[in-house]
Amino acid sequence: MNTEQSVHSAVRWLASREAAECAFAELAPEAARLEPTIIAQHGADGFCVGCGKRGWLTQPDTAPGDWANLREGLLCRCGLNSRMRQILLTLDALLARERSLSNAVVFEQVTPLFPRLRERLPQLIGSEFLGPSCRSGDVVNTMGQAVRHESLLATSYASDSLDLVMHFDVLEHVPDPVAALAECHRILRPGGWLFFTCPFYEGLERSIVRARMLDGQLQHDLEPCFHGNPVDGDGALVFTQPGWDLLEWITAAGFPPATLALCFDPEQGVVTNACPYADGHTWPIIFVAQKVGAPVAKPRALR
Ligand SMILES: [Zn+2]
Repeated sequence: MNTEQSVHSAVRWLASREAAECAFAELAPEAARLEPTIIAQHGADGFCVGCGKRGWLTQPDTAPGDWANLREGLLCRCGLNSRMRQILLTLDALLARERSLSNAVVFEQVTPLFPRLRERLPQLIGSEFLGPSCRSGDVVNTMGQAVRHESLLATSYASDSLDLVMHFDVLEHVPDPVAALAECHRILRPGGWLFFTCPFYEGLERSIVRARMLDGQLQHDLEPCFHGNPVDGDGALVFTQPGWDLLEWITAAGFPPATLALCFDPEQGVVTNACPYADGHTWPIIFVAQKVGAPVAKPRALR
C-alpha cells in the first residue's frame, strides 16, 4: 500500500446526528463544486487505497433518464468503486487505533473488496447469502469457488466470539434490520466493533419500508426495487430505504449510540452519491458501534 497519500484520509468520527448534519453542511459546497465536473468528465483523477496507484477513476455511462451514482462509480482499474475505497479508508482509520481486531467476519466474499479487506485482516471470514435453502455455515460451490453461506438474521457464529463484524450494503436487503443488528450484537465479544454501510438517506426522517415478510410471505408495500447482487443475476430485493431512524435500530439492537464515520475524500475518489433528489442522496458514512459489557468497562469514544 502506498503510504504517501493513503494514511491521512479525511475520516471524521461524528458522535451524533447534529455533528453529522454540521459536517454535511460544511462539506456541501465542495461536493456541489466538484461532483458536476466529475460527472461531465465521466471520471476523475485520484489515488486508490486498494491497489495503491494513482490514476483515472472512471464514471460509467448513465442510462437515459437516470442520474450518475458516484458512490457505485468512480471505478479504479483494480475493480474498486468509490464505496469500496471509502470502506478501506475508514477501516484503516479504525485499525490504526484498535489493533486487536483480528477475529473478524464480513458478509461478502466474492466482491473485489473482499481480498483488500483480507490484506488488512488475514483471518477475515467472508460469506454471501446464497438463498433460503442453505444453512448458515454451509460452504457451497458457487461460480467456481467455495463460498460460505451466512444469513445475517441467523449466523453460524458463536455468541460473544468476534472482534469485528462488518457488512456493506446488506442491511437494506434484510426483512428485519433490527433483528439483523441484534444478531451482530450477539456474535460480537464485549468490546467488539460493528462496522457497516447501507445507502443511508440523510433526507429521510424515517426509513421507507418497501417490502416485508408477514408469516413467511413476502409482501410489497411499494414497487419492487432491486440492487446488484454478486451471487444472483436477478439482484437483491430492497426491503428498506434507511433514514435517520437507523440510529434507533442500532440502539434497539443493544448497542450504545453509533458513531457516524464520514469519509469525504475527493483526492481518493470518495464523494457523495450525487443523487439530485433529497430523499435519495447519501454521504459516505460508515456506522460504527462498540458492544458494551464485561470485560471492557466502558466503550471508548472515537474522536
Ligand atoms: Zn485501485
